Amino acid sequence: MSYFTDDTVVFYNGEWINAKDAQTSVYAQTLHYGNAVFEGIRAYATDYGCSIFKAHEHYERLEYSAKKMYIPFNYSVDTLIQLSYQLLEKNGLKDAYIRPLIFPEPNMSLMPVENANVLIAAWKWDRYLGSKLLNVMISSFERPNPKSCHVEAKVSGHYTNSILATTEAKHKGFDEALLLDMNGYLAEGPGANLFFEKDETLYTPALGNILPGITRATIIELANAMGYKVVEGQFKTEDLLAADSAFFTGTAAEVAGIQSVNGKAFNLKWEDSIGYQLSDAYQQLVVEKSVHNHPMI
Ligand code: PMP
Repeated sequence: MSYFTDDTVVFYNGEWINAKDAQTSVYAQTLHYGNAVFEGIRAYATDYGCSIFKAHEHYERLEYSAKKMYIPFNYSVDTLIQLSYQLLEKNGLKDAYIRPLIFPEPNMSLMPVENANVLIAAWKWDRYLGSKLLNVMISSFERPNPKSCHVEAKVSGHYTNSILATTEAKHKGFDEALLLDMNGYLAEGPGANLFFEKDETLYTPALGNILPGITRATIIELANAMGYKVVEGQFKTEDLLAADSAFFTGTAAEVAGIQSVNGKAFNLKWEDSIGYQLSDAYQQLVVEKSVHNHPMI
């Protein structure tokens, strides 16, 4: 897919420029070593115009990720939110995906840099995992050991692990992978968190070996508000295989129902699952909640 046209504008190092004119150095530390931090954010069209869902949470996580990787970050969260709204307006986008990326200046050493580039781009992006139920495989790749990196930060280099897992799954005829942690417990998808339902209770891997998803937190709040218990803990593949239903959550994927794991289908119809109800509630919330957060109101 093409992410920009001749007219697309991006924010790049303090300026608004055409995406087609944006350039970077071939000596960028990011290109060679994967050192950069980014976010994935969604904006939704509401009755009051375009509105960014959980903008503060996303830019706070970006700031956190940058700090963890010693990447200088000189913009306030509020400024980045304002820039994001301007970006959407300049590109005539309402329902859109926003991608801020903070990446170091050229540096071939393995030391932190003094300056970093700031890019914010946006494009129209359908649900990342589509809208059909997913056939998932347990990956032969594990999520990175949290003692080898800041697994809770959104760092570009971590996504080589995600690329390996998704590619393996696709090559084997599945739609998506599910990764375990280094101790063999369920962790998360390559770009989304996992929930499963058993006897009308929801279960999700605890924080520690996963990216603490903003959608995950939203789904826990929504489930609790709907009267469902959510248990965060360490679960095995067998727990998932014995579950009634399961789904992924993420900003790009939203709520994506899972049909089967390693070829074993869940017995509960997706339409009868808590995940389905939450998917509906999430779709309402991103528009309603956005209305309350909208800077113009
Ligand atoms: N886990 C991973 C590895 C991800 O890349 C993402 C997407 N950012 C998520 C979980 C979901 O996070 P969020 O709900 O904040 O988008």
